[in-house]
Amino acid sequence: MQKYDAIIVGAGIAGMTAAIYVKRAGRSVLLIEEKVCGGQIINTLNIGNWPGEAKISGTDLSNKILAQVKELDVEIKYEEVVNVREGFVVKTDEAEYGCSALIIATGTEPRRLSEKQEKDAGRRPISYCATCDGALYKGKKVVVVGSGNTAKHEMQYLSNICSEVYHIHHDDPIPEDAEAVFVAIGREPATKVFGDLVDLDREGYVVAGEDCHTSHVGVFVAGDCRTKELRQLVTAASDGAMAASEAVKYLG
Ligand SMILES: Cc1cc2nc3c(=O)[nH]c(=O)nc-3n(C[C@H](O)[C@H](O)[C@H](O)COP(=O)(O)OP(=O)(O)OC[C@H]3O[C@@H](n4cnc5c(N)ncnc54)[C@H](O)[C@@H]3O)c2cc1C
Repeated sequence: MQKYDAIIVGAGIAGMTAAIYVKRAGRSVLLIEEKVCGGQIINTLNIGNWPGEAKISGTDLSNKILAQVKELDVEIKYEEVVNVREGFVVKTDEAEYGCSALIIATGTEPRRLSEKQEKDAGRRPISYCATCDGALYKGKKVVVVGSGNTAKHEMQYLSNICSEVYHIHHDDPIPEDAEAVFVAIGREPATKVFGDLVDLDREGYVVAGEDCHTSHVGVFVAGDCRTKELRQLVTAASDGAMAASEAVKYLG
């Protein structure tokens, strides 16, 4: 089994920033990402609050940071972490890796439909991103589930593409003639696999203060999956730097 000084789980803005800091401190590091480097921001068209960029898309920002990560020769594996054992042994859907320090940077994921609504949806496609999938339903009838600003935005976006856009709330029955279901009912922390390792709060966020130390020695947390007031790109990057520098201190 290959062993690293640090393993970072999740290559969103927090995880990629942490990787830059650990690598620049001369430590070996593995960054593990189950989907796409960049995380939840990759489909956002306009970011207006990243210092130094008056206007930039999520894809461009992510690619710029990823280029910096690659330039430093950080090793990246595109695998899903399914379990972490004491020691630490990080198990993915493909292999096992060892590390002395672990940084959790798994962010948040879209909240799923209720069981009843999923049953209701049957074999109809379910999407969590109108910008990504809206074009697939050109001229068709779709339904948006959710009550917040994201749901409003998804409806607006789809109304220019689809013949009809229904709107329902969480737990309402899904209209029979809708051909696809777009879900916008918020996000939740992607932390289930760490539940036996570190303390989580009632909503599932990893409990940690600004120093990014978790309840387990040697395990640090960065970004949106941590208990915090402000979940934004700059605070994710800030956490990445803090978690990495605390991990490097811990490694000695
Ligand atoms: C639509 C939208 C628009 C936004 N706009 C802005 C904005 O304009 N400005 C701003 O500052 N913030 C914005 N935000 C918030 C911002 O995107 C987040 O605060 C930030 O991206 C969080 O980064 P992160 O690295 O903590 O987590 P994430 O971006 O969620 O990254 C976590 C990564 O971990 C991976 N992962 C999860 N579980 C595992 C696992 N088990 N194994 C391997 N990998 C795993 C995920 O695939 C993901 O890539 C927006 C968010 C959304 C959803």
